[in-house]
Amino acid sequence: MTEPGVQSNSIHELARRAMADAHLEEAYRSSSLRLYTHRLSAIAKVPGFERLRDRAREIKRDVMEHLGDYLEQFESNIIRLGGEVHWAPTAEEASAAVLEICRRAGAREVVKAKSMVGEEIELNHALEAAGIRAVESDLGELIVQLAGERPAHIVAPAIHKTREDVSRLFVEHLHSEPTTEPERLTAIARGALREIFARAAVGLSGANFGVAETGSIVVIENEGNIRFSTTAPRIHIVLMGIEKLIPRFADLGIFLRLLARSGTGQKLTSYTSILTGPRRAGEDGPEEMHVILVDNGRIRTLADEKMREALYCIRCGACLNACPVYRKIGGHAYGWVYSGPIGALITPQFMGISNARELPFASSLCGACREVCPVRINIPDLLLHLRTEAQQRTETPRPPRSLVSERASMRIWAWAMKRPWAYSLGGALMRFGLKAFARWDTSSGGRWVKKFEWFPLSAWTESRDFPAPARMPFRDRWKKISTR
Ligand code: SF4
Repeated sequence: MTEPGVQSNSIHELARRAMADAHLEEAYRSSSLRLYTHRLSAIAKVPGFERLRDRAREIKRDVMEHLGDYLEQFESNIIRLGGEVHWAPTAEEASAAVLEICRRAGAREVVKAKSMVGEEIELNHALEAAGIRAVESDLGELIVQLAGERPAHIVAPAIHKTREDVSRLFVEHLHSEPTTEPERLTAIARGALREIFARAAVGLSGANFGVAETGSIVVIENEGNIRFSTTAPRIHIVLMGIEKLIPRFADLGIFLRLLARSGTGQKLTSYTSILTGPRRAGEDGPEEMHVILVDNGRIRTLADEKMREALYCIRCGACLNACPVYRKIGGHAYGWVYSGPIGALITPQFMGISNARELPFASSLCGACREVCPVRINIPDLLLHLRTEAQQRTETPRPPRSLVSERASMRIWAWAMKRPWAYSLGGALMRFGLKAFARWDTSSGGRWVKKFEWFPLSAWTESRDFPAPARMPFRDRWKKISTR
């Protein structure tokens, strides 16, 4: 099991370690690229996709502006349907509510469907400390649980594991025969879980959406395990962040069309379950339904007018797949459960900026995340806002050598920008130097500088390449065009 809390290692150290593992780097690169291209072809087939994004953003903005009202409406509908609502201001209180329900039910085992809020509140640690076994029923979650890791991606927790890795884990923990066939691996996991579904008294899930108008919980998945976890046990617990509300049932169609296409490139996931209260007379399903509404930093985020937008997130994972930084360093380098651009945004909000002051800087601000976000969250803008906050509100650690040199070069650059002769001269010298070091690279079909030996230039090529300068500098091209 992973250590609780934000990992103390800096993102620099964790990223360096991740990048030293070529196998891991390739797994992240190829898997996220595959999801990214699936999204592109899926959205190309939907006329009016951009209008759907606009509408979804409007709905989320309305929810955040009137969150108190929608929460009250949601709560009264859950109660009317026979469910129970538990308010959890903190992670500890959310875990305590789960433990109390398990204690009352005399449960020694909880079958869990995928829940990022469950990861966020470190629920497995709390259950283990109370002597209750948590069994992950989602295949990806089961894999990372057996590996003692955190999810590496919001929608694909085991995105970094190859079939060989999974086979080794199953041999070691589930005592299966080695196999790399996906169907066999799935069957092994299913076999191990089936009897647990049948005997567990408590099933736990997250919620993709909560519908205020009807009190419904909406969960989407591809494996069918959530259906089992939420209907077979006698008690169903829902862990839900308070921002997951949508106002009306009619809004659901918009979000479902956006979520699956943005996340995995599917039209819809294989299963969409709409759970409206515990079972009634003549129905199957759980006798009790408990909805735990988790704040854990969300109200604080809501109170900040600028950062409020981060709560529009529907956890599709598209920004991770599009992010060049995530593709390179993977999910674990971010040090907490939420990774990628959205992790860099919400981790400092939920955990406090002083616990995650480096995360807003883990971005090239290229804007790829904003382009793919189905609810159009302006992630680069919010990251800039957080960077300012990190500088103003936290104790700045002694800057690393690379930052000192970056600041010095920025000062030189600012000085040269005010003196055109100096800027031209500097540019000519840079071009001359870069051309001399650039080498042809067959994989990219271009000339690149792969390695500088001397500091500070070596700091740049330590983790990225430098393109050879264009044959004709921009200023010369501009002059040529404007004199035509
Ligand atoms: S920020 Fe946008 S793209 Fe990223 S996970 Fe959330 S909804 Fe998806």
